[in-house]
Amino acid sequence: MAENLKACSVCCKSSWNQLQDLCRLAKLSCPSLGISKRNLCDFEVEYLCDYKKIREQEYYLVKWYGYPDSESTWEPRQNLKCVRILKQFHKDLERELLRRHQRSRSKPPRHLDPSLANYLVQKAKQRRALRRWEQELNAKRSHLGRITVENEVDLDGPPRAFVYINEYRVGEGITLNQVAVGCECQDCLWDPSGGCCPGASLHKFAYNDQGQVRLRAGLPIYECNSRCRCGYDCPNRVVQKGIRYDLCIFRTDDGRGWGVRTLEKIRKNSFVMEYVGEIITSEEAERRGQIYDRQGTTYLFDLDYVEDVYTVDAAYYGNISHFVNHSCDPNLQVYNVFIDNLDERLPRIAFFATRTIWAGEELTFDYNMQVDPVDMESTRMDSNFGLAGLPGSPKKRVRIECKCGTESCRKYLF
Ligand SMILES: [Zn+2]
Ligand SMILES: [Zn+2]
Ligand SMILES: [Zn+2]
Repeated sequence: MAENLKACSVCCKSSWNQLQDLCRLAKLSCPSLGISKRNLCDFEVEYLCDYKKIREQEYYLVKWYGYPDSESTWEPRQNLKCVRILKQFHKDLERELLRRHQRSRSKPPRHLDPSLANYLVQKAKQRRALRRWEQELNAKRSHLGRITVENEVDLDGPPRAFVYINEYRVGEGITLNQVAVGCECQDCLWDPSGGCCPGASLHKFAYNDQGQVRLRAGLPIYECNSRCRCGYDCPNRVVQKGIRYDLCIFRTDDGRGWGVRTLEKIRKNSFVMEYVGEIITSEEAERRGQIYDRQGTTYLFDLDYVEDVYTVDAAYYGNISHFVNHSCDPNLQVYNVFIDNLDERLPRIAFFATRTIWAGEELTFDYNMQVDPVDMESTRMDSNFGLAGLPGSPKKRVRIECKCGTESCRKYLF
């Protein structure tokens, strides 16, 4: 009988991991499954759930990766090779003990009370969820700057409804027209012909040779485009190259939800990020605004450079700017930018640093910043404050209390 089955094969219903675990349970090494004598006993730790000390021996309750909670086992410390997970467990334990005012020193108690153990499990699950989200964001970004995610404040995980995009997502019935002409400069900065791309629409060249904006807020930026003769290294290509700084989405500890901080020094007048989202008509924005007002959220950004026809909604589709908080004394300034689309009703919105921003500092912009770009004589935004804001909707009906905490705080956002 066995002779007859020699050439016969069936597909295996078990996964690779399950087969590896079967080997481990049976204590069988199997080179073709990657199970050797050396790693025969290595199951993967997903996280640690509990801790106890019996005499001088420390034990940890281990949740095994790929197994249900019911299969979790107590293991003595010397069995565990997951140094990073152990370290994190004790860091979380220490911090939580401190918060609960039980102890101030690093020595853990011999047993954890159930609520503390439960908290540590929640924290471990949250860390895994945030790592996954971080990986997802980085897989979706098309820019140089990396994104990290951190919550050392509460147990909130990734936002439930948010999709990372790198450029505008154009809503139904709206079209972005591709530019038809580019410049013919030898050198766009030092030897421009006809004022380069900005000159073609009677505007000034926006950048110096360091890529820092030198126009006053309110003036539009015209960058070189896909039709231009110049190449990728042209000094008039800045916003189009995307975010280049490593940034961190972090949980604020003063009730302002998520925020964004830079992990690198940003020089004054440097481009930091674009505000992207879904482009919708202002009528649609009006409708959505009423819903958002009720939720107390503000992700609508009116494109009112020339007329108020379109709005950017970053509530669901957005980039890292979705998480940047408001401040009445912000370190980011908004500019209208035109690159491959010259329709003045559809500028791109770019944030530039108003001053040196040091590594570790939070990035902020003024949700109700007012610049009047059509009136070129007007000085900065102060004069028009309170009217239709650039970011944020002028259709706001509710007053949102400001929590920015700066000296110049206006107390209310709208
Ligand atoms: Zn040029
Ligand atoms: Zn050009
Ligand atoms: Zn150029």
